[in-house]
Amino acid sequence: MSNYSRFIQLIIFMLFFQMNGMAQNSECGTDYIHNTRMESNAVYKKQVLEMETQVEASIKNHAHNNSKSTIYKIPVVVHVLHLGEAIGTGSNISDLQIQQAITGLNNRFNNSNGNGVDVEMEFCLASIDPNGNSTSGINRVNGTSVANYQTNGITPTGNPCIGGSETSIKDLSRWPVADYYNIWVVSEICNGSFVGYASYPVGGLYDGLVIVSTSMTSNSGTLPHEIGHGFFLYHTFNGDGGNLNCPVDNDCTIDGDRVCDTPPHKQSDCGATNPCTAAGVWDNSRYNYMSYCPLVNRFTQGQKDRMRATAVIAPRASLLTSAGCGILGTNEINSNQEFSVFPNPTQSNFSIINSAQKPLTIVLISSDGKQLNTLFSQDNIVSFDLSSHPKGLYLLEINDGAKTEFKRIIKE
Ligand SMILES: [Zn+2]
Repeated sequence: MSNYSRFIQLIIFMLFFQMNGMAQNSECGTDYIHNTRMESNAVYKKQVLEMETQVEASIKNHAHNNSKSTIYKIPVVVHVLHLGEAIGTGSNISDLQIQQAITGLNNRFNNSNGNGVDVEMEFCLASIDPNGNSTSGINRVNGTSVANYQTNGITPTGNPCIGGSETSIKDLSRWPVADYYNIWVVSEICNGSFVGYASYPVGGLYDGLVIVSTSMTSNSGTLPHEIGHGFFLYHTFNGDGGNLNCPVDNDCTIDGDRVCDTPPHKQSDCGATNPCTAAGVWDNSRYNYMSYCPLVNRFTQGQKDRMRATAVIAPRASLLTSAGCGILGTNEINSNQEFSVFPNPTQSNFSIINSAQKPLTIVLISSDGKQLNTLFSQDNIVSFDLSSHPKGLYLLEINDGAKTEFKRIIKE
């Protein structure tokens, strides 16, 4: 072999590894874990199939359309499993980065920066912990006590890679899954093989999603992708046999990703046309958060229907009535939070707790931005009457002279 061909061979070899590395780094581990469990765990398989039946029925029984409906508010707790770094360094990402990641997640779900639909689901960092105390919704734990975590990160249960045991790592910090959607931020998954993975909605102590710290950012496509799995979305290329064949497409309600407005495709097909089918809106799949394509900007109406149908069924339904996001009961009136609002949602009246008794200017704003009412008060409890206003979403602007806070109120 000439030096020249050796050189070419070396270049090809390097390119292969580089591309392989890039593909691996963009991957989500959900399919691998799900498929393994479907084959090896009969109980899990039964749960998934039952959930599928319920979600199909729920989608068929509900008239889903583009009109405004109740925003489902999901309390989220973020556990940062770091390697002992200072806060804001390495895998121990800052509170600000986490808050911005949740804002970015919400912007993708409400389509404020995309080309899809408003899913009308909102994720809030928990403000009340499982013991009823106020919280930032962020827990920090050094994960290095778990063997192999420091060198390789977490190993999802059932995966042969070397790393820290998933259950041991999650046992370091987890909150009840009935009241909180758990997000574990980790240093690595299988030594860099995956950027995230999530549990399909079958419940259990370890339900939630795992994401690497470098993907827990405001512009992350990984976070909405994994939350999508958490609310029972499959990849848009589901059924492609690992990029081998076009997914079966006889009945879009049960084939492929089981969503009818996302044309089936192969994982790596993201170009101007879809080699698998000319039917449907191709952009809905190749720009979808549930694809592996490089540019993503949407969930579709079909995906929204599936996620919202999932949200009202166990195990996710209890999240909608959780007090984790500070939807306050009377027992919390004496807590030291400023500007708490209850009850929310309300049918007529609501009150604002002004525990510091500051002079407040409170403006009630409609969802289309009109100022409906302005009130000045220094009372401990300020009451508002919404009975003459139509059902829907309202915004409260509360100013205490030093800062302004916004609260969302839902009238049911
Ligand atoms: Zn995925």
